[in-house]
Amino acid sequence: MPGPARKRRRPYVAVLRVGHRPGRDPRLTTHLALTARALGAHRLYLHPPDPELAGRVAAVARRWGGRFEVVAAPAWGGIVREFAGLRVHLTMYGEPLVRVLPRLREARRVLVVVGGAKVPPDLFQTADLNVSVGSQPHSEVAALAVLLDRVLGAPPASYFRGARQRIVPARRGKHVVARPAARSR
Ligand code: SAM
Repeated sequence: MPGPARKRRRPYVAVLRVGHRPGRDPRLTTHLALTARALGAHRLYLHPPDPELAGRVAAVARRWGGRFEVVAAPAWGGIVREFAGLRVHLTMYGEPLVRVLPRLREARRVLVVVGGAKVPPDLFQTADLNVSVGSQPHSEVAALAVLLDRVLGAPPASYFRGARQRIVPARRGKHVVARPAARSR
């Protein structure tokens, strides 16, 4: 008889965004960071750095919990070369996600690299895997969301430890509760 199902260890996932254009597409990169955080990634390396954007994401994390951070990456090459784990470049030209999914799930650490308007050609060589979410052009936010969901599944509530407020899922309307203040003696 099969024994009790063992809980799968979730890999540590970091995301590297290359080709961000500070001042030109803050909304798209903010959405990328918030998606990475909400779906279970641990950090986002941002190239080139954008301290204002990093500050806005940090404010969200303070309010909604967890340890997600945006880390400045003045040079992206070193982040990819020195990452101790599986380096995955999301590109519509890559191998289908479904084909490489077992490798991603078994890895202890995964770096997911996404491009912007332009993608440095070296990335195709430096990455361990070039992976597509459908062989059609769409968006880095969508591609990242699908990959994280397939690799990590739903993040546990404990992932957002220290939240100042949390949502109570409701059929209708908005139900948000504040964290009870720490008791003083
Ligand atoms: N023109 C760019 C190029 O040379 O690949 C594509 C830019 S696309 C707007 C921005 C990013 O979205 C890509 O670098 C990639 O990370 C991601 N992306 C878009 N479509 C994808 C797909 N089908 N599969 C995986 N990633 C995709």
